[in-house]
Amino acid sequence: MKFRSTRGKAAALGFCETLVQGIAPDGGLYVPEEFPRFAPEVFASAEEPAEVGAIMLAPFAQGTVLAGSMARICQEAFSFPIPLKQIQSDNGPLYVLELFHGPTAAFKDVGARFLAGCFERLEADQDNPLTILVATSGDTGGAVAAAFHRRPNIRVIVLFPKGLVSVRQEKQLCCWGDNVLSLRVKGNFDDCQRMVKEAFAEQELCQRLRLSSANSINLGRLLPQAVYYAAASLKFWRQTGQRLNFVIPTGNLGNGQACVWARKMGLPIGKIVLATNLNRPIPDYLETGEWAPAASIATLASAMDVGNPSNMERLRDLLPDVEGMRAEISASSVSDEEIREQISADRLARGETWCPHTATAAHVYDSFASAEKSLPWALVATAHPAKFETIVEPLIGHKVDIPEALAKLLTLPTQATEIEPTLEALVGVLT
Ligand SMILES: *Cc1c(COP(=O)(O)O)cnc(C)c1O
Repeated sequence: MKFRSTRGKAAALGFCETLVQGIAPDGGLYVPEEFPRFAPEVFASAEEPAEVGAIMLAPFAQGTVLAGSMARICQEAFSFPIPLKQIQSDNGPLYVLELFHGPTAAFKDVGARFLAGCFERLEADQDNPLTILVATSGDTGGAVAAAFHRRPNIRVIVLFPKGLVSVRQEKQLCCWGDNVLSLRVKGNFDDCQRMVKEAFAEQELCQRLRLSSANSINLGRLLPQAVYYAAASLKFWRQTGQRLNFVIPTGNLGNGQACVWARKMGLPIGKIVLATNLNRPIPDYLETGEWAPAASIATLASAMDVGNPSNMERLRDLLPDVEGMRAEISASSVSDEEIREQISADRLARGETWCPHTATAAHVYDSFASAEKSLPWALVATAHPAKFETIVEPLIGHKVDIPEALAKLLTLPTQATEIEPTLEALVGVLT
């Protein structure tokens, strides 16, 4: 299968080239030229996400050097549980899809591990290592570093803003060593992102160091995310014959996009509702039909502080007119005050402790009319609350237990190189 750019001015590429290329040379994002369609029966023998993924992703990699490894790559990426857990509700059935049982306790582990599995195989015969640059405001850098740690022929450079990530996030960014270099940049997240973009704009540097990226515009992070929606909806379909509906905490719209793609491929998914924080270009677009990206606003759900969600370009490519998009998804914005109230209230009402991102989804569900609530819904839990303990613990009045994998990372020694927020400083440590 080929993948084309949303802007239509770059050549369509095969699966492997698309992953390595990251963003298209015309500035667009790669999307599949067509989507395979699956009837639920095709997955009769597949229950676990790794088995569902092997079937669902095979058509994308067909005919490439990775085709024979797809099942194995899925096994490696989906090596931790992704439970669909029923929780207390006064209305229809309510579930939580827990995506936070991976090494860095957020859903980004899935895409990062899938991409690392692909890159490792593609890079096996190279003399000159691939250099992956990641600017991070928190969760992405940790997931990518964890996923690529000790993979041969690949090095990872993580740039994060000094003093602007939480203590636990900084540990997850700096505990790796070996082929991972952690750079504490004397600037903010925008500086980190600018430095990465400037490096990619230097043709000679790009080719000499073989620069690549692993952020969420990479197609290799989106496709595996469609798999957990497929596996959860299939499980529910087999049990009840009904479609499962999802509420998804949304920032850059990678995770929501993946769910839309899974439904487009024929999986038994019902409604898709996006929950955003006060950064609201997506809900505003659905309301007014005007796409008006803005500067990002800092909120409690910081991993969703995106004023210009890049993946909207993919969604608008799929659903070009606003009427059509309204028929497929809806979106609501949630304030910091509502996030706080939801975390406190659900500790008691549902016995659940949410991270601030997941709390936006719970709030949006609670705002539904009762007819809507009588449908079966799944709230998508994007991170473990222990990652955001400084926000969550005062609201619930006690400590949050740290999952084992995360606890292990927090005890490792850390190392980081501090640099000025300039391209020269970055090139200095790269070469
Ligand atoms: C990245 C992230 C999000 C937002 O996901 P998108 O794919 O960017 O929409 C939500 N919650 C958490 C915990 C995240 O790390």
